[in-house]
Parts: sequence; structure tokens; C-alpha cells
Amino acid sequence: MIRTINQLCELIQLQPSQLNLDSDSPFPLKVPKHFANQIEPKNPQDPLLLQILPMLSEREEVVGFNHDPVGDLALNPIDSLLHKYKGRVLLITSPKCDIHCRYCFRRHFPYEQAKKNNWRQAFDYIQQDSSINEVILSGGDPFALSEPILIDLLSQIEKIKHIDTLRIHSRTPVVMPEKANRPNLIARLKVSRLSIVLVVHCNHANELTEQTHQLFKQYKQAGITLLNQSVLLKDVNDSVESLTILSKKLFKQGVLPYYCHLLDKVAGASHFSVKNRQGWGLLEGLKKQLPGYLVPKFVVEIAGEPYKTQLLKPENNVDDK
Ligand SMILES: *Cc1c(COP(=O)(O)O)cnc(C)c1O
Ligand code: SF4
Repeated sequence: MIRTINQLCELIQLQPSQLNLDSDSPFPLKVPKHFANQIEPKNPQDPLLLQILPMLSEREEVVGFNHDPVGDLALNPIDSLLHKYKGRVLLITSPKCDIHCRYCFRRHFPYEQAKKNNWRQAFDYIQQDSSINEVILSGGDPFALSEPILIDLLSQIEKIKHIDTLRIHSRTPVVMPEKANRPNLIARLKVSRLSIVLVVHCNHANELTEQTHQLFKQYKQAGITLLNQSVLLKDVNDSVESLTILSKKLFKQGVLPYYCHLLDKVAGASHFSVKNRQGWGLLEGLKKQLPGYLVPKFVVEIAGEPYKTQLLKPENNVDDK
């Protein structure tokens, strides 16, 4: 794990002075070796590097970018659970991530509250609401938990009769595949009565490697549905070409594109913002390049809406900042 700017700069052969860095960020640099090794040396504009560099510009206050852009704090009936959409609850399984993505809307979320001892409460909540049929393990990152704890969680969830689907949302398989390689967990998921979905998070084709391919194969062989979500990020993947290559490479590795999220307006991430109008243009471009099943749904998270909202045509879009 790389945690200092000097370590990173040594690996990618750049001088810290070539980058406009914040060495004292409250959301410090954190990047697994595997991910860092995919960064092209001597390229300050590398699309993977831009996702993890703590920049001084993050400190600028920008109108419209705040600390809880998706209204999650208001939908937190108990500390470790979010119940925002019908039929699905999201369990905050861990306060940690293996990588610190600069654009993350969760960077200001009070994760410390999500301690293991709150799961009992979360399970009681799910048990009492038979309209819930899907449990999503999210985070932080579920793979921050040990294999026995994850298997125990699975068993607890299987005991709730009205649950038929378990979804795992994780960036670990992409950024640190060796850590998501959990043979016992995979074997256990394979025999579960639940339908299992693994939603990985990959923003750029360069994040996909021989190791991710091998890992996805194992999950696939266990009958697990593999989907990807990405975030549309300025200078990282905001071109038809980049998104087309990403979709094709995901498919080659057995993963279908699911969502492409427009950036949540979180304080510190404004430099990643892509205008809705450009997003729409990219979506149109993708539709012309790819079969329908390789075009992700472009979505925006609007606080208070009953689902993730699909990007609207710009004419209808009042909010096009
Ligand atoms: C995105 C999200 C979900 C899942 O939504 P889907 O549209 O089913 O992928 C569930 N809960 C929360 C809080 C979410 O943010
Ligand atoms: S892995 Fe996901 S939750 Fe963690 S910092 Fe990155 S985007 Fe945020």
C-alpha cells in the first residue's frame, strides 16, 4: 500500500514539485501497489494518477459542491444502514477503502459509526420490513472485512426469508485483485440460495489487468453476475473513445457496464466535474459505437428521488453547471 507522496513519486518517476499537491489533506493519499503499477511513469496526466492525487485545488470552496451531496445522512435510519430505494437496503459494512478516490462522495461520510455491533440492529430492521428483497454490502469497502466475517454476514442474510438477492459493491477487485481473491467466500457464494451480484468499480480500461481478468473468472465460475459502475471524470474518462474501450475491455473480462455516474457534487471534487451537456454527448456517442448491452446507464443522484435518475437531454436540463 502506498501512503506517501514520496513513495508514489518514486514509483511513477515524477518530482512532487511537478504536481500541485496537498501533502496535508484530511483525506490522505492511499493507493494499492497493483493500481499504482498501472500508472504510466513520467505522465502527470495519467488517467489513473489523476484519480488518486491529493491536489491543492481540492481545498477551494466551489458553489454547489457540499459535504452530503446525495442526501445520505438524512436516510440513515440506523448507523450502518441506508434505506433509500424500495426493496433495497445498503449496509455500510466497513469504514475503510483500499484506495482513496479523490472524487468520492463518501469522503466526508461519518463511517466510524458503522461498527460491527450495529449489524444486529441492521438485520432487525431488514427482518421487520418484508418489502426489502435485496441487501447491498457497500462501504467503505466490504472486502476490508475478513473472509470469515463476510461468510458470517452471508449466512445472517440468508436467514432472512424475504431476501433473495445479495449485492456486493466494491472497488477492491479492480484496484487490489489479490485482496478480493477469497476462495472460501467464493465457494460459499456459489452454494448460496441467494442470487449474487458483484458490482465492481472501474473508470478506465488501464485499471483492468491480467490479474483482474483471472479474478473475475473465478467469480463468474461461481455463477455470480458481474457488473461495473464508473464515474464520469474530467480528464480521466470523458471521451467517447475512452468509454468505448472501457466497455469493450470489461466485456472481455466478463463484466457488463451498469452505471456511469455523473459526479456527485462533493466538496473538493469540482475539478472532476463534467457538464451534463457533455455527458449527454458522450452517451449519444457511445450508443453509436457499441451494442446496447455495452452502453452503461448514465445516472445522476438527485437527493430525495426514488431511484437514480437517468441523465436527461440537455434542453430539459435546468441544472447544467
Ligand atoms: C445506488 C444505491 C442503491 C442501488 O440502486 P440500484 O439502482 O438498485 O443500483 C441502493 N441504495 C443506495 C443508498 C444507493 O445509493
Ligand atoms: S473505493 Fe469507492 S467508497 Fe472508497 S473512496 Fe473510492 S469511490 Fe469512495
